[in-house]
Amino acid sequence: SDETSPVAAPEDRDAEATVRPKRLAEFVGQERVREQLEVLLHSALRRGTPPDHILLSGSPGLGKTTLSMIVAAELGSGLRLTSGPAIERAGDLAAVLTSLGTGDVLFIDEIHRIARPAEELLYSAMEDFRVDVVVGKGPGATAIPLDVEPFTLVGATTRAGLLTGPMRDRFGFVGHLDFYEPAELERVLRRSAQILNIEITPDGATEIAGRSRGTPRIANRLLRRVRDYAEVRGAGIVDLTAARAALKVYDVDPLGLDRLDRAVLRALVENFGGGPVGLSTLAIAVGEQPDTVAEVCEPFLLRAGLLARTPRGRVATGNAWRHLGRTPPSSLAP
Ligand code: ADP
Repeated sequence: SDETSPVAAPEDRDAEATVRPKRLAEFVGQERVREQLEVLLHSALRRGTPPDHILLSGSPGLGKTTLSMIVAAELGSGLRLTSGPAIERAGDLAAVLTSLGTGDVLFIDEIHRIARPAEELLYSAMEDFRVDVVVGKGPGATAIPLDVEPFTLVGATTRAGLLTGPMRDRFGFVGHLDFYEPAELERVLRRSAQILNIEITPDGATEIAGRSRGTPRIANRLLRRVRDYAEVRGAGIVDLTAARAALKVYDVDPLGLDRLDRAVLRALVENFGGGPVGLSTLAIAVGEQPDTVAEVCEPFLLRAGLLARTPRGRVATGNAWRHLGRTPPSSLAP
């Protein structure tokens, strides 16, 4: 079971659309980014011009897609959604760009994965609202300049550091989304429960929030799991008893760690004596891409104080050993 993976599962899609905040005022937490965006959007509205391009970085499930939708809603603009991996050729991107209406918001998820030729086309569109589309091949090839309506690009990335310098420089606004505090996740849960007509007690919300990996997507998914369990086994109320029993059935880790988090910690401790070990070696040990380990898994393990990065590689902390039910080596004690 992988109930606490921060990556969206197909079954999440409809459920997420229902509880997704529609306006900035409904968006829980992330005070800094929210306030900065509010100023950016309202000054653009006052001037009557599209705001600067916006880059949002942060782990999966923290609200990047939601914020792009909110940006369009606050501006009263149209919204187009696409992703870096979906744009394979420059022509794919040119087609999207030239079909935008004035002031539209274009959301590109995983923008760091955009193909190189498309990336260069995007530069001129972002800067000059113009693209050169190359027609034909070889000596007969001609570049046809096409106008693009003024638009706002909202790019999302799991790590801003993965973006090329020229790409990063073209964003006038860069916002970083952090993991949510348990109290913020409780607010997310109370809000979702209200929308979904679920009765939730304060201690039920606390229990789920503490095991949601700092991630609203996971909190909402666990809420649905506990609700299902409570309906079948209990009085349908999401309280502490139902939460504890359901999260046990779904094998949700007490700290909210998902399958990959646990595999990484176990490999570190069991195969490498706690480290230090390099990222690529660790990734091979758990059968994952180094990028996935670095982008999806490590930020939370670092934040939870279970993993540390040292110049010589990754090391498991004493808490990681204890979480796996083992005694840390004396060098890490207490
Ligand atoms: P990302 O694009 O960063 O992977 P999403 O924007 O798709 O994440 O968010 C995942 C889900 O989590 C959304 O459906 C939304 O319901 C919920 N969510 C994310 N951020 C918030 C927030 N700040 N307040 C309330 N719900 C949120």
